[in-house]
Amino acid sequence: MTSTQDCIAVLNAGSSSIKFALYDAHAEGDLLFRGQIEKLGLAPHLIARNAAGAVVAERSWSDGGLDHHAATAAIMALGREMLAGRPVIAFGHRVVHGGVDYAAPVRVDAAVMADLAKLIPLAPLHQPHNLAPMAAIAKAAPHLPQIACFDTAFHRTQPALAQEFALPREITASGVRRYGFHGLSYDYVVRQVRKTLPLPTDAKLVVAHLGNGASLCAVRDGRSVASTMGFTAVDGLVMGTRTGALDPGVLLYLMQERGYDAGKIEDLIYRRSGLLGVSGLSSDMRTLRQSRAPEAGEAIALFVYRIVREIGSLAAAMGGLDAIVFTAGIGENDAATRAEVAEGCRWLGLELDEVRNQRGDRCISVTGAKVSAWIVPTDEERMIARYTSETLAG
Ligand code: ADP
Repeated sequence: MTSTQDCIAVLNAGSSSIKFALYDAHAEGDLLFRGQIEKLGLAPHLIARNAAGAVVAERSWSDGGLDHHAATAAIMALGREMLAGRPVIAFGHRVVHGGVDYAAPVRVDAAVMADLAKLIPLAPLHQPHNLAPMAAIAKAAPHLPQIACFDTAFHRTQPALAQEFALPREITASGVRRYGFHGLSYDYVVRQVRKTLPLPTDAKLVVAHLGNGASLCAVRDGRSVASTMGFTAVDGLVMGTRTGALDPGVLLYLMQERGYDAGKIEDLIYRRSGLLGVSGLSSDMRTLRQSRAPEAGEAIALFVYRIVREIGSLAAAMGGLDAIVFTAGIGENDAATRAEVAEGCRWLGLELDEVRNQRGDRCISVTGAKVSAWIVPTDEERMIARYTSETLAG
């Protein structure tokens, strides 16, 4: 039994930041406040806002040395202060990789922690950071339930073929397969689509999660059928600093002819490529849109070109397309990207309404378009809170 005072805390830990959110454990789980500590290890800065967006806490650390454990402790201390005695009954965590076994959120215990740690080699840039706050909380509050929510889980419904590389069976069997990511976002968006949009439940959708990380997901009957991210979150679309799909022969060439080792390749494909690499200017879409440099325009054009080609590929995987749903920083806010993507999808029957698109309406296609287009804001933290209370309730 929970009391009306109970709260659920959500942590979404990345390499240099931890996002957090606190929700009422009841009703539709009203947001109490959310925020983040960013620039961990550099110049840590915490900011928290209430549901109306007003800043309710702000703090900086001058020593720079705040690690994920200390940052988690700082967030827990802030929670205690802000909640004034209201109890946190569970923590929900974003975990990038659940491997083949974790197809749903799970309550964390020592065995689960050990399992998830085994997946670190599959997501070395994310998984260790996701797990660090869990360990910190398990130590500080061992009886508090912690729920791990996976970015890969939503994609476990994909047909076997969509998850397979054309590799020797033994390598596939060892776990080298397409997992897909951004699943928390897709699950949230698809639930919103089914709850609020006038589309048939068996609609063939492409959801476009376009943020710093970017991917597309083909959704049929509310389930993931295929996605652009694969074994890692570097596959698929051009991203802020990631290459997206890259001929593996390029990597061999760089190793054999230009002396790249694994570390240098990792840096290249995750941190120095994408919009940043092509523009030579920035990974940030707003900066590129404001720039007159031809390289900025080229980076955007390549970003859009790859999205349009992959939408065609996902439509083929579903045998058709009824609607495109835009979400995340660029998808929700950048009307120009939406218009350019839509122009490339005109042949599929997509026609945007310019005014609706500029205004950022929920429906942005013309009335009667064969393929409709929508904006649905994502909320990964809210999804984690929902999973957490569902898992607690059994
Ligand atoms: P993350 O993957 O880090 O969560 P976001 O979903 O916040 O990223 O997306 C960040 C991207 O969204 C950046 O490229 C940023 O420039 C872009 N973005 C945010 N607001 C706007 C806007 N108003 N116009 C254009 N791009 C925007």
